[in-house]
Amino acid sequence: MMPKDKLRQLTGDERLGQERESEYLGAEDIDDGTEPILTISGLWNGMVTLQRGKENKDVLTFAEERVPGIRQVRPLIVNSTNRKTLRKLYGDAKASTLVGKQIQLYIDHNVRDPQDGGKTDGIRIKPYKPRVRPPVPLCTDCGGPIQAWKGRTPEYMRDYTTKNYGVPLCAACAQRRAEAAKQSEAAKTEGEEVTEDASGGDSGELL
Ligand SMILES: [Zn+2]
Repeated sequence: MMPKDKLRQLTGDERLGQERESEYLGAEDIDDGTEPILTISGLWNGMVTLQRGKENKDVLTFAEERVPGIRQVRPLIVNSTNRKTLRKLYGDAKASTLVGKQIQLYIDHNVRDPQDGGKTDGIRIKPYKPRVRPPVPLCTDCGGPIQAWKGRTPEYMRDYTTKNYGVPLCAACAQRRAEAAKQSEAAKTEGEEVTEDASGGDSGELL
């Protein structure tokens, strides 16, 4: 039964805990099994309001507002484990070193809860630098993003079209170039019989 209070129904990737008071990133903000990559935009220190009162804490802020695995990126309170990881990753924990660097987060399910000594979930920084895949360039012909096509990844499409057309193309533009090439070929061989592929471009065949 619905309560009488005015509630808003959560849908899609909205989640429990997303409207909680805390201004800081918590384990519940990170989708289980994901390891989001974030870019450090600032290092901060000060009195932070926690459930158990105010404490002096180090805080990281991030350039991203939303990344795969985190619906709303919030600042991260840095505990001693994560501070050590940051030092190991980048040599020291100076602002001049860390701002602009990327870190990858994951959820550790075996963090000791300081309140009751039990196990709880905690955000951890992966002990290696995130392997960032180079961004896929835009399509040379239409300027649009090169997207996955018939099970091929954008990276595959980039490599395939660059190899065959000399420039990175989206599937539609590669198709267009293939058609154009076919037509000019047909014009050259006018009079001769031209065999057309009846299945057109929909067969999943590469362009
Ligand atoms: Zn295109």
